[in-house]
Amino acid sequence: MSVPVIPVAPLRRGLEIPPLLRDPASGPLADMRGRGLRDLRISVTDRCNFRCTYCMPRDVFDANHEFLPHAQILSFEEIVRVARVFHGLGIAKIRLTGGEPLLRRNIEGLVAMLSQALPDIDLTLTTNGSALKQKARALFEAGLRRITVSLDSLDDATFRAMNDADFPVARVLEAIDVAAAEGLAPVKVNMVVKRGTNDDQVIAMARHFRGSGHIVRFIEFMDVGATNGWRMDDVVPSAEVVRRINAEFPCEPVNPNHFGEVAKRWRFKDGGGEFGIISSVSQAFCSSCNRARLSTDGSLYTCLFATEGYDLKSILRKGASDEDLSRAVAAVWQRREDRYSEIRTADTPRSRKVEMSFIGG
Ligand code: SAM
Ligand code: SF4
Ligand code: SF4
Repeated sequence: MSVPVIPVAPLRRGLEIPPLLRDPASGPLADMRGRGLRDLRISVTDRCNFRCTYCMPRDVFDANHEFLPHAQILSFEEIVRVARVFHGLGIAKIRLTGGEPLLRRNIEGLVAMLSQALPDIDLTLTTNGSALKQKARALFEAGLRRITVSLDSLDDATFRAMNDADFPVARVLEAIDVAAAEGLAPVKVNMVVKRGTNDDQVIAMARHFRGSGHIVRFIEFMDVGATNGWRMDDVVPSAEVVRRINAEFPCEPVNPNHFGEVAKRWRFKDGGGEFGIISSVSQAFCSSCNRARLSTDGSLYTCLFATEGYDLKSILRKGASDEDLSRAVAAVWQRREDRYSEIRTADTPRSRKVEMSFIGG
């Protein structure tokens, strides 16, 4: 008789939830640096059909890589429960991400559950666009109203090389059009700018999306995780991106929509619409960072660059009440001190940081 092979889960022992510092009922939730909690990013899968060189390099995320087994992944019911608890603590926004969130089976079912449970939450999702053409209508019907699609280049050869899955630009552009036509307009388009790889595409992207109503966000290449070979020299500072765009299409800054907004807004002076810059490396925004992250396996991370998360799943599965969960999240947040990007140097060690595909971008 053959012995069944049990897949080995990636060993990741979460941090224990600390005791509360203050009664959460005593006032608005704030961390050690006075930052509130506004935004929750939920990673719904650690899997992806792309192997973007800056995120899941193929030589690391190869056939031997062990993704999380199903039993370790939060169910939709568990995700909604955690989201409700965060909502009770004051969050205004949820972003579904991953990995590639559209690979999670019946993702529209989760969107429907979240939008019904929390109708006043600003719910959005970030995707590589590969399955968006097929899913856009179902996502809209489930209650999604906003979406972000990643696209790093309009040059097909460059894009195929960067996603390392031979995926063509045309299908992402088509997906953006379909999403907009289904009601998910304006679409936000994320471009990670890497010097010498795709920075020659900045103007082409600005030109293409000007006047379309969609908003490109130019993101500095970050040292997330430990595998993407990040070097400071590869970062194109956002100020340089703005300088280059301004030389071609004069532009000016726009006031933020709300405190702590990640992307700084710019608009074309001739009325051609807006673009955004995300300067996580050159102009860190830790002082206003109000984002928490829930990993695919139910750990709470208080920073994108954290080395460990707090194990919410265990207490959830041990029968914690909503009150217990809320106090656990509050306790973690009250002790939060993170400000990685403010103190990063080119020599900051990278060995233990969690990968972005796991924690959620
Ligand atoms: N798979 C989806 C996608 O690509 O849109 C969602 C997950 S992905 C991790 C979320 C966002 O993080 C994408 O826009 C991606 O380009 C960005 N990203 C990934 N690695 C990055 C890095 N090293 N620096 C800056 N942005 C990065
Ligand atoms: Fe996948 Fe998104 Fe990471 Fe690219 S950036 S490998 S699409 S998770
Ligand atoms: Fe927030 Fe951490 Fe990024 Fe600073 S480094 S902005 S604390 S996620």
